[in-house]
Amino acid sequence: MDYEQIKTRLAPCGLHCGKCFAFIDGDIRKNSQKLMESLGNFDIYAQRFVELLNEPAFSKYPDFKELLSYFSMVKCNGCRKEKCKLFKNCNVRECHKKKEVDFCFQCSEFPCTNTGFDQHLHNRFIEINLRMKEMGVEQYYEEIKDKSRY
Ligand code: SF4
Ligand code: SF4
Repeated sequence: MDYEQIKTRLAPCGLHCGKCFAFIDGDIRKNSQKLMESLGNFDIYAQRFVELLNEPAFSKYPDFKELLSYFSMVKCNGCRKEKCKLFKNCNVRECHKKKEVDFCFQCSEFPCTNTGFDQHLHNRFIEINLRMKEMGVEQYYEEIKDKSRY
């Protein structure tokens, strides 16, 4: 994948939109849709399996299905195309345009305190951007592209 393609999956803050549960072309969304299809009318069987298998975990199927359904339906085109659904206070999306950089590590103010992130995300933002700066964007992407972002 070249630099421009990678940008469709890596947000300016460095987070991997491609592995976000909401990403339109992401594994979590696509696999959830497949699992929903495979499960079909499992609701009825889940109830039966509580007794037949003496397995109380099946009684939680409605909750599982609700979340699976959510994962299947939610869709985001990624940070460079639309406002993030998760981090509503993010300032990076607008800020990187003003600073005319693709990623925060390319900005003269990095690491800044302007992100709007909570401490957990701020720490990840620093860690990811330092790694990209050290390795280069393409190599960083190779390193993380198949890993869970969670
Ligand atoms: S912009 Fe936010 S909600 Fe959308 S894919 Fe990226 S991290 Fe997920
Ligand atoms: S000022 Fe901060 S948030 Fe804005 S582009 Fe630079 S490093 Fe990123």
